Amino acid sequence: MEIVLLGSTGSIGTQTLDVCRMHNIRVKALSANSSIDILEKQAREFCPEYIAVSDEKYYGEIKSLLSDTSIKILCGEEAVCELAQLKCDRVVNAVVGFAGLLPTLAALKAKNSVALANKETLVAGGELVMKTLKENDTSLLLIDSEHSAIFQCLMGAGDNKLSKIILTASGGPFFGKSRDELKNVTKAQALSHPNWKMGAKITIDSATMMNKGLELIEAVRYFDVSPEQVEIVIHRQSIVHSAVEFEDGAIIAQLGTADMRIPIQLALTYPKRLPCPAKKLSLAEVGTLTFEKPDEEVFNCLKAAKKAIKMGGNAPCIINCANEAAVSLFLNDKIGFLDIGSAVEDALSNVKFIKDPSLEEILETKRAAENYVYSKFKQGDI
Ligand code: MG
Repeated sequence: MEIVLLGSTGSIGTQTLDVCRMHNIRVKALSANSSIDILEKQAREFCPEYIAVSDEKYYGEIKSLLSDTSIKILCGEEAVCELAQLKCDRVVNAVVGFAGLLPTLAALKAKNSVALANKETLVAGGELVMKTLKENDTSLLLIDSEHSAIFQCLMGAGDNKLSKIILTASGGPFFGKSRDELKNVTKAQALSHPNWKMGAKITIDSATMMNKGLELIEAVRYFDVSPEQVEIVIHRQSIVHSAVEFEDGAIIAQLGTADMRIPIQLALTYPKRLPCPAKKLSLAEVGTLTFEKPDEEVFNCLKAAKKAIKMGGNAPCIINCANEAAVSLFLNDKIGFLDIGSAVEDALSNVKFIKDPSLEEILETKRAAENYVYSKFKQGDI
């Protein structure tokens, strides 16, 4: 088996390479945005034919670091799309944020099978992505642990219809807090997730619960259900990764330790299950599993995401891109924690709604949502 890995230096990228190492999966190409030192090490270990750096300012550096190799080095966003079109068994898209959309579309148009860790792809351009998937008769497997869980719960379901998806959420570091208590939380507090070790953007999204809002939209698009059919449940232990309810009331859940290598590996080896380096789950050690309702008044990103998916059109793209801009401002100490939620809600009410957006209109919506957030907080582009 041979893969192309986009976003190789991030949390999902490095764990994907753990799986490749264990099962001798060949890596044809790697791409990264920055972290040039990690990219160089990965290139020396996995000897890909191609490397792309999306940020052109690192091109000279990586080219000279790897000048003793025969690896072809490319740069720019277009180069990442070129790698996505290389003939391979699977393209793993672990790019962070909206930047993952065009490579996903490029891979599908080249009839490549895609393992997608980039949920923003299905939020910002979900209808377009699913249409492109069908037109090109290829496959799309999700790496997000919840969506992998739902997919696993449906394996063997045949024609039986699910009546409900139960999407579990850890609740993040601020579960149970009031809005007052969240006013002055720091970046360090928001970055310390109780169960999962992840990149900065998704960790902040977990703290605001925007992550669960994005995952709700991802589930609606991918599993073709209505927003009302997805119930979000807080499950602090992150053991039940999600569940589905069938028409007879039976609920099937997928359980495991909080280790992304399990869903990553399944997305690479599906339909085969192979040994995985992740720790095995002991239910007796876990002891208790708890489930509670989320508080949408405190975590208003969740409320905005629900509203956006019901509106449809470019509304999910608006909240996704407003959130990306707000999270980058928060990570750069320009705005407070609660400003993220208000940026998302206000952008949804103020950025122009488009019912059936083309790709160009999705790209325009991204710029409009970002500009709205930057001007709301009187900040320049970060
Ligand atoms: Mg997830």
